[in-house]
Amino acid sequence: MKKDILKRIYKEIKEHDTIVIARHIGPDPDAIASQIALRDTIRLTFPSKKVYAVGIGVSKFKYLGILDKIDDSLLDNPLLFILDLPNKSRVDGINFDNYPNVIKIDHHPYEDKMGKLEYVDEKASSTCEMIALLIKNTPLKMNPDIAAKLYIGIIADSDRFLVPTTSSVTFDIVSNLISKYKLDIPVLYNHLYERPLNEIRFQAFITLNMTITENGFAYIKLSNDMIKEYGVDASTASNMINNFNYIKGVYAWAFVSYDERQEIHKVNIRSRGPVINEVAMKYNGGGHKLASGARLKSASDVDLLFSELDATCKGYKDKIETDKV
Ligand code: AMP
Repeated sequence: MKKDILKRIYKEIKEHDTIVIARHIGPDPDAIASQIALRDTIRLTFPSKKVYAVGIGVSKFKYLGILDKIDDSLLDNPLLFILDLPNKSRVDGINFDNYPNVIKIDHHPYEDKMGKLEYVDEKASSTCEMIALLIKNTPLKMNPDIAAKLYIGIIADSDRFLVPTTSSVTFDIVSNLISKYKLDIPVLYNHLYERPLNEIRFQAFITLNMTITENGFAYIKLSNDMIKEYGVDASTASNMINNFNYIKGVYAWAFVSYDERQEIHKVNIRSRGPVINEVAMKYNGGGHKLASGARLKSASDVDLLFSELDATCKGYKDKIETDKV
């Protein structure tokens, strides 16, 4: 079944001369690495095709590759790939109206239908894992550079194999990439993990100042003054949410910061048990069962969201305590 979809995707690639690859706003390494890897494998396999990876770039992810600028209203019968994105509203850099053919490749829980061909696998660790499977099962070509990008995306989104969607497929792909393409893992990890000292200090500030409820919900409201004081940028502060897993007695945790330009409260939520995306969806959010986010207009909604997350933790905690007896 999966192989059939992969072959159909390959057929669509073969049949289109112009291909655009987009992903979600506020990209992470998996989103950018998957679009660059897909662009580069198509260019390598079909040098005469015009292939573009689009969306706003992020300077700290420049090492993953440079994105392309296009005016998509001028393209002739382009094929559009949407990667790492379940809902149309969070797409970056394209107008859906300009694309007669859309293919979605994503590992989030299913939300919007985008095209006739959709390869969605909630069990995949990352979109890069899915792109690696596409390349492995079709005549698309790989080289060491593409392999390195796929490796980084898998490592980043699986949180170095910590997330439960890490599977034998993930390890199989990674093992194959390392052995065939001689990846220099320390160099790749330098790109992904090296951080300035002020960020470590800011993480320490969060550790010292977050509130932990008796139900095992941890949260902190990050003001722009706090973020400024430590000299970190807002997206770096948000990404630190991933560094608070496996704290004994903490089952779910959240950060909120305020985006002055868009006038919204940005919430990042993570869990190691309670299902959080169903709560996030009620507050203009969504995501995975254990990694979600939300965007809220009012501060009082943030408090309501946090109360619901606390109640979800309570339900989870009560259940594991009852199961123990
Ligand atoms: P983040 O905390 O921003 O890294 O997001 C974690 C997950 O939640 C990602 O898979 C996002 O795609 C998803 N997510 C974040 N914000 C939203 C939102 N406003 N609506 C739907 N999904 C979201």
